[in-house]
Amino acid sequence: MAIKLGIIGSAGRMGRRIATLAQQDENFRITCAIERSDHPAQGVDLGELLGLGKIDLPISSKWSANPDVLIDFTTARATIDSLAAARKDAVPMVIGTTGLSSEQLASVKDAAKDIAVLQAANMSLGVNLLFHLVGQVAAALGDDYDIEITETHHRFKKDAPSGTAMELARQIARATGKELPSCLTHGRSGAEAGREAGKIGMHARRQGDVIGEHTVAFSTLGETVELTHKAHSRDIFARGALKAAAWLVGKEAGLYSMANVLDLRK
Ligand code: NAD
Repeated sequence: MAIKLGIIGSAGRMGRRIATLAQQDENFRITCAIERSDHPAQGVDLGELLGLGKIDLPISSKWSANPDVLIDFTTARATIDSLAAARKDAVPMVIGTTGLSSEQLASVKDAAKDIAVLQAANMSLGVNLLFHLVGQVAAALGDDYDIEITETHHRFKKDAPSGTAMELARQIARATGKELPSCLTHGRSGAEAGREAGKIGMHARRQGDVIGEHTVAFSTLGETVELTHKAHSRDIFARGALKAAAWLVGKEAGLYSMANVLDLRK
């Protein structure tokens, strides 16, 4: 039987892609499309909003029929409000929204005492596999391998390094006992900018319309091992969210991550 899916933030960039991909997937049936109450798409048929033709599902500010699972890509504040409603109605929830404060993260943890919650700042399956692999490789190769992380994004990205690059550094630090942020060297310039042993080099390139590329290079005298992830499309996040939603249905209360979906936490 198809999974009854509720999408919160359904008229947003991510919400629309998730809705479009779910509409094309027989494993899902979208039963509610939620948007903020003052959004111009309120009352508009979701199918028409997506350019797929009428599907008799008006965008609304509340869910009516209880979905099997919710996917939320909105704002931190909206996520916390929706999570309270999901907890009350005992509906599991996938959270893709980023930028939650430590207080908001604590309320996610608290809600996960009663319902299954899956939270990931990056829903790409490949990136989450990379998070796992870099720790393993760093620990296996040891201190004589210099580690350099390079991330490339489009010219419009404002922050650097990317959250994903920082998570790669966190995973390496965790696996090798390094301290963050003191183990990082951000770029190099000047006469005394030689490589320090044990540091993780971090480099951000901004060019053109690159969606996102991350490479972690491990080099010693004589060889280099490189692990690279390249995003070809932002749909990797939408596909990951749908995979996470399908995985979450029927799970016990608790806070889960994409590592659980990929079965990497044994
Ligand atoms: P967006 O602004 O295009 O969409 C957000 C939508 O949420 C909007 O349509 C907005 O009206 C809606 N919204 C706001 N308040 C609401 C409420 N109270 N109830 C219902 N809907 C509400 O943004 P986006 O690009 O889709 O990104 C959304 C979030 O997802 C951001 O935090 C972004 O950083 C994050 N994101 C995460 C991943 C990931 O892999 N985890 C990937 C891409 C984006």
